[in-house]
Amino acid sequence: MRILKTAALLSAGLLAAQTAVAQEKFITIGTGGQTGVYFVVGQSICRLVNRGTADHNLKCTAPSTGGSIANINAIKAGDMDMGVAQSDWQFHAFNGSSQFEGDKFDNLRAVFSVHGEPFTVVARADSDIGNFDDLFGKRVNVGNPGSGQRATMDVVLGAMGKSSDDFALASELKPAEQSAALGDNKVDAIIYTVGHPNGSIQEATSTVDAKLVNVTGEAIDKLVGDNPYYAKAVIPGGLYKGNDEDTQTFGVKATFVTSADVDDDVVYTVVQAVFENFDRFKGLHPAFATLKEEEMIADGLSAPLHPGAEKYYRERGWIQ
Ligand code: GLU
Repeated sequence: MRILKTAALLSAGLLAAQTAVAQEKFITIGTGGQTGVYFVVGQSICRLVNRGTADHNLKCTAPSTGGSIANINAIKAGDMDMGVAQSDWQFHAFNGSSQFEGDKFDNLRAVFSVHGEPFTVVARADSDIGNFDDLFGKRVNVGNPGSGQRATMDVVLGAMGKSSDDFALASELKPAEQSAALGDNKVDAIIYTVGHPNGSIQEATSTVDAKLVNVTGEAIDKLVGDNPYYAKAVIPGGLYKGNDEDTQTFGVKATFVTSADVDDDVVYTVVQAVFENFDRFKGLHPAFATLKEEEMIADGLSAPLHPGAEKYYRERGWIQ
């Protein structure tokens, strides 16, 4: 009798444990290369979410990925719940334009935007590259397929009536590999659409004498004039070794996106974790230091807000 009772108690305990495990929900955030800023965005959001797992049972992971396009595609396929993506690719994915022509992602939802990302070109000082036009005929790392910079580079080349065939070499190295390739003289220039300062450009400019290159001219003026998701951008001088002057270019915003298929309470919990610990979040990377709530919930967002995010912003009185 006593043994039976113990067995019953034991199995009741087991059942409780199983229920607790079953209630825990895992979410995955798509980021970018480990030397970029998206990786820090995802890791920071997860860190804040996971501080509250005991209360809400959400467990968050943010693995390194190929970048914007890879993240949007993974969210669409249901392989990831959320991700970071450039504002231009959020726009094109939701509207079925550019690379997403015939592949419209109606269920794409915006959560908030984060830091600005200037389209950044870094060239070896010995390469005679002073402006973007000088890249033609040179060896250029155009970026890995799936990255935002690779896709935006194709748009820039198209706007100039050029393609990567106009480079002596167009390599497809990932952000984590490209700085070493520049230092080893395997390429003359690298490109990266990324927040500043970041580890990748720091590595490039400290291993070899390298310059940030202006990306200006008529084609860029027209791109910025015609498209709401682009803006002129300046990379301030003094952020990187040997680069004391400002660099003129254009840029996009990093945005945080999800799918309409992700539960409202999941998105609400993630958004709440960020904005209720906002000072802590801003302290996790220098590119986050100047973020403002009112800009984050409006700028760079072209897909509709996810209802879970909207609910939180309404409760805070940030939207009607
Ligand atoms: N903007 C890049 C992309 O969309 C990623 C930048 C980063 O990782 O910080 O692929």
